[in-house]
Amino acid sequence: MVHGPKRPGVPALEARGLTKHFPVHRGLRGRAVVHAAEDISLALPEATVTAVVGESGSGKSTLSRLLTRLITPTSGELLLDGEPVGTSARERRAYTSQVHLVLQDPFSSLNGVHGVRYHLERPLKLHRGARGEQLDALAKELLERVSLTPADRYLDKFPHELSGGQRQRVAIARGLAVRPRVLLADEPVSMLDVSIRLGVLNLLDELRERERLAILYVTHDIASARYLADTVVVMYAGQVVESGPAQQITDSPAHPYTRLLLSAAPDPHRSGPVVLRGRGAPPSLIDPPGGCRFHPRCPFAMPVCAEAAPPTLPAGPDQVAACWLLSPDRTAEAAEAAAVAGADGATSHPGA
Ligand code: SF4
Repeated sequence: MVHGPKRPGVPALEARGLTKHFPVHRGLRGRAVVHAAEDISLALPEATVTAVVGESGSGKSTLSRLLTRLITPTSGELLLDGEPVGTSARERRAYTSQVHLVLQDPFSSLNGVHGVRYHLERPLKLHRGARGEQLDALAKELLERVSLTPADRYLDKFPHELSGGQRQRVAIARGLAVRPRVLLADEPVSMLDVSIRLGVLNLLDELRERERLAILYVTHDIASARYLADTVVVMYAGQVVESGPAQQITDSPAHPYTRLLLSAAPDPHRSGPVVLRGRGAPPSLIDPPGGCRFHPRCPFAMPVCAEAAPPTLPAGPDQVAACWLLSPDRTAEAAEAAAVAGADGATSHPGA
């Protein structure tokens, strides 16, 4: 099925229950399974930025590869414009032209032996059948759309003649050549100098608004997610632990892990003390902890946290979090855990 124009109220791209387990060999200990992504659901509406935030090993890059179909999910499904995505070669080609991945490393994502013109004209020929003078005009238009102007100055340069930020803009322009509906940006600024990160983030924001793209912004930096995103999805150890409107999540985080991320990202606009002191490290995804995967690091952990995975519960308007502290049935235990955590230096628990 080739997907048609957008449908009102239907997300451009939606994931339902995506799970990815990688089988691995452990030498004499035999085979094992990496639980890289578990039951992840999210929606990417047009003209919005959704940030997926988490530490290294949280599963956020696995998620972006599942969404591009670079890897096949163990279970779960993808819907493009509300329609399940098929597996035929024709459907794969249609999907690839609608959903484009921008990689983290602008230095390796462009081929150093070819100039900017080659990188832009190739997808224009393959996906849009452009030829001759039209190719030149469309390539220049792409450069202008990513603010590399005047376009003539950049069209015949080679990647090594460009700065990191300019390369990332060329990589984004190459993605726009196929007229995608969805842009998946996996840590697109983490390898750039701090001084040029803001320019690339602003470009993504412009593309969201001007081209009505649905953008997934994968990052370890929750402060930049607050700056750019409409919605924030927080991942820990392969699972979504909290999601909701970006400002609300960063102003009133409900999950202790979100509070840990925020405490590690000083924000001059946020008042009040650091909310949680970090302890420990993310778990192995080969043998993740039972119950809540965050419980070995959580200062609010209660006995139930090691025994049963917490349900996803409302934490505010359009905000949900997977944490037992939010359960109305656990109020007394939560208060006790908060008292213990307070004695250890953490501030009030999320459900308080
Ligand atoms: Fe997980 Fe329990 Fe801590 Fe909530 S309180 S994050 S359920 S360990």
